[in-house]
Amino acid sequence: MGQGTPETLNIDIYIAQDMIQRPRGTRDFGPEEMEKRRWLEGVMRSTARGFGFGEVATPTFEHTELFALKSGPNIVDEIYAFQDKGGRDISLRPELTAPVIRFFVNDLSNTPRPLKVFYIGPCFRYERPQSGRYREFHQFGVELIGTKTPESDAEVIGLAARIMEAIGLKEFTIRIGHIGILRKMLSDAGLDPESSAAVLQKLDKKLYEEARPMMQAVGMEDDQIGSIFDLTEVCGEVSVLDEMEGEAIDHLKGVLDVLSSYGLENVQVDLGVVRGLDYYTGIVFEVEAPSLGAEKQVCGGGSYSLSELFGGERVFSTGFAIGFDRVLLALENEGLEIKFEGLDAFVIPVKDAQRIKAFEIVSMLRRSGVRADVDLMRRSLGKNFKYADSVGAKYAVIVGEKELDQDSVTVRDMGSGEQKLVSLQALAEFFI
Ligand code: ATP
Ligand code: MG
Repeated sequence: MGQGTPETLNIDIYIAQDMIQRPRGTRDFGPEEMEKRRWLEGVMRSTARGFGFGEVATPTFEHTELFALKSGPNIVDEIYAFQDKGGRDISLRPELTAPVIRFFVNDLSNTPRPLKVFYIGPCFRYERPQSGRYREFHQFGVELIGTKTPESDAEVIGLAARIMEAIGLKEFTIRIGHIGILRKMLSDAGLDPESSAAVLQKLDKKLYEEARPMMQAVGMEDDQIGSIFDLTEVCGEVSVLDEMEGEAIDHLKGVLDVLSSYGLENVQVDLGVVRGLDYYTGIVFEVEAPSLGAEKQVCGGGSYSLSELFGGERVFSTGFAIGFDRVLLALENEGLEIKFEGLDAFVIPVKDAQRIKAFEIVSMLRRSGVRADVDLMRRSLGKNFKYADSVGAKYAVIVGEKELDQDSVTVRDMGSGEQKLVSLQALAEFFI
């Protein structure tokens, strides 16, 4: 059969013809991989907490309208959008900024400001899978809600940089711009918000020859167009802003001033940072890890206001989202090695008569906080050693009749093969 609707699907006769595979663009993670991922999550969480941010969580799916309001109706083509059984338009979340701001508008708008929150969780996008690009991936992000001072922008960029340092990423650059500068030039040149957004999308990808006809179509002169293109190429040290002025430039200079006190290197001004289709209104920034090649952007962020779109008051925020999976790839490219913590002890009864005693011992060790396991397959001593070795156990605990007569067990160092008698009373202590 294969294509059963829920009504016709008869489980008794539904037997897969081929091995069932995971859906395209998704991944499974084994214990070693999860150990790495949990470690990375832990460092990110504690760094954000150290900056005064608190963790929040929102649902994995939302009303499709939420994402359409934030990114425009075309977003539906890029996400997992469907109708549920009640006929509601639902989408798996492609990102968490909109959900977090919805949460803020629903329940948190009376909390003291600034509100500093962070999140980590899976996101879903209907993209063409490739290295560093998946259909299910994870984002770690923050939103600093309720302010738009240069200090708050700097705080968010400072945290992104600190996280990269804390996880040990060696090579990365942070490029900071201000989308208000380009937006103003485009609106001064007579572009309505829609054409301006279309042009910005091209400029984000540096597709100048595609942007040019759009700009000519609204009557922009070649020199006007040229000066906009030149602006997107302004890139380098803070001093590139020296000769420039205006509200947005002053704000950007303010952000960079505060950032200088965070003691960061790797920060660059880049007025060409546009951030695609996004909703940003103020500063915008990206973090890149060059070791990743084409998909090298590991973090994107900026300042914006979305709350009024979701039925709240207008409130300014600054945030970023780190591509968790890409950061991990970048760390691995740089040679990150995380030691997989195996078992402390593997408990082996020598004969059937010691089996129950072996369980008593493993249970006592586990209660004492020792990572311990026990033979569950009634194997011989030799086979148990082999297994203990293959799961990375540091010690084998051999429970034999003679040792038990002395209220003791033999502890074997799996690395050196050295063995010694340890009393049951002192056993837990031995491993801690
Ligand atoms: P890109 O241009 O690479 O598609 P984006 O602008 O769509 O990125 P954001 O929406 O800002 O990215 O998401 C923040 C971060 O999430 C990105 O910098 C990237 O590291 C990561 N990311 C985005 N899409 C994916 C994906 N499909 N798979 C893995 N990571 C992703
Ligand atoms: Mg994308």
